Amino acid sequence: MKTKQIVKQARDFAAPFRVAHGRKFRLRDFDPGDTLELKSEDKPRAKEALAIGVQALAELQDKLYAQDRWAVLLIFQAMDAAGKDSAIKHVMSGVNPQGCEVTSFKSPSSEELDHDYLWRCMKVLPNRGHIGIFNRSYYEETLVVRVHPELLAKQKLPAPLVTKSIWKERFRDIRGFERYLGHNGILVRKFFLHVSKKEQKCRFLERINNSEKNWKFSSDDVKERGHWDAYMEAYEEMIRNTATPEAPWHVVPADNKWFTRVVVAAAIIEALASLDLHYPRVGPRQLKELAAAKRALLARK
Ligand code: ATP
Ligand code: MG
Repeated sequence: MKTKQIVKQARDFAAPFRVAHGRKFRLRDFDPGDTLELKSEDKPRAKEALAIGVQALAELQDKLYAQDRWAVLLIFQAMDAAGKDSAIKHVMSGVNPQGCEVTSFKSPSSEELDHDYLWRCMKVLPNRGHIGIFNRSYYEETLVVRVHPELLAKQKLPAPLVTKSIWKERFRDIRGFERYLGHNGILVRKFFLHVSKKEQKCRFLERINNSEKNWKFSSDDVKERGHWDAYMEAYEEMIRNTATPEAPWHVVPADNKWFTRVVVAAAIIEALASLDLHYPRVGPRQLKELAAAKRALLARK
């Protein structure tokens, strides 16, 4: 398949799930079970499309790396068991590990709590030419910290700064931060893997019943599930306030993992294709040098 065709197909898969203007965003307009027009018997076709996409991604990344100008930051947020890890694993399976770093953000350490909340994220922003993946991110500051006010209390913020407006301020600061990244050549794309409460229950049960998956199960995850509605409200508010044309969210249906991967790959291909990526162009002087080097190599044994 030609690159142009792959990019067009990617656009068709990603567009229905992209939120670039959050003002009217409502989570209930997005169905976690959506697979567009694909049925489960189309799974093999979807897998094939994913394989083609993974190859296209590898080629785009190669140019990104060689060109050494742009960087790409991919942010993944989701409830537990929505499939963040496996989406990252499958979609990025073809990329050169030298140009890609994944960072998983857990509960902040005491050193991290001693700084502003963007500090730990800033330190691991992708280099030029690289793709950085945040598995969870500074968005947790508007999610878990909002659902659990005791976490905010632990942040040692000066009391006068902790007011009713704190979430609005965080949204504004994050929008500003992402604008700043854009101005510095870091393209930001954000993914919310949208799983249903019913499917999450099935996946938790699978983690309990299947001994090979036991290690993935944590009883804390079940506790967090108890706050489902509060999380959904927080996610909705977050997307409403931080979806922008420069740093859009993708609300990716996550009840069918095969479809999740196709949409995530499509959105990344589309993002990379939107950059003017090309191998560094060689000037007349370098061409001469190359020709001389070739002659020298061929002349000797
Ligand atoms: P998985 O469970 O699939 O392995 P995960 O991303 O859920 O992956 P965990 O180690 O289970 O990884 O959880 C990380 C935890 O850290 C999450 O509960 C998340 O809410 C929490 N966390 C991340 N960032 C922050 C933050 N800034 N403040 C408080 N908690 C945070
Ligand atoms: Mg977890």
